Amino acid sequence: MEENFKLVKSYQYSSEAKIFSSKLESEGIRVYLRDIHIIDSNPHLSTAVGGVKLFVESKDFEKAQKSLSEISPYSLDENNEPIKCPKCKAEAIEMTTSIKDLKTLFAFIFSLFFVLIPFYSKYRYKCNICKFEFN
Ligand SMILES: [Zn+2]
Repeated sequence: MEENFKLVKSYQYSSEAKIFSSKLESEGIRVYLRDIHIIDSNPHLSTAVGGVKLFVESKDFEKAQKSLSEISPYSLDENNEPIKCPKCKAEAIEMTTSIKDLKTLFAFIFSLFFVLIPFYSKYRYKCNICKFEFN
């Protein structure tokens, strides 16, 4: 069975692993959680056994990775690498929108009428550590 399955990610908490595995299952991906019973019965063992390991069938590996990156708390670039802050090099980057208040929203709608769709400024990234914003 091992050779048909590929490790996607390991989680410290079984609850976390369950949330992610149910997302994958909802997309028709077969999921196998390893060591979940050990960690459920004794959470202190999580570090020792390396957490709950989420396996999927090899054929679903890329689909699973993509699906999980969509709900990743931090943004990934097109190579699935975490986006780093250009200022402090932290990886705690969240997607943010430049439309922050009603005034900018109206400005945005207004610009739509003039077909000046500001795609380039629609999304920005924000560093959770130093609060630096970048595109
Ligand atoms: Zn930063």
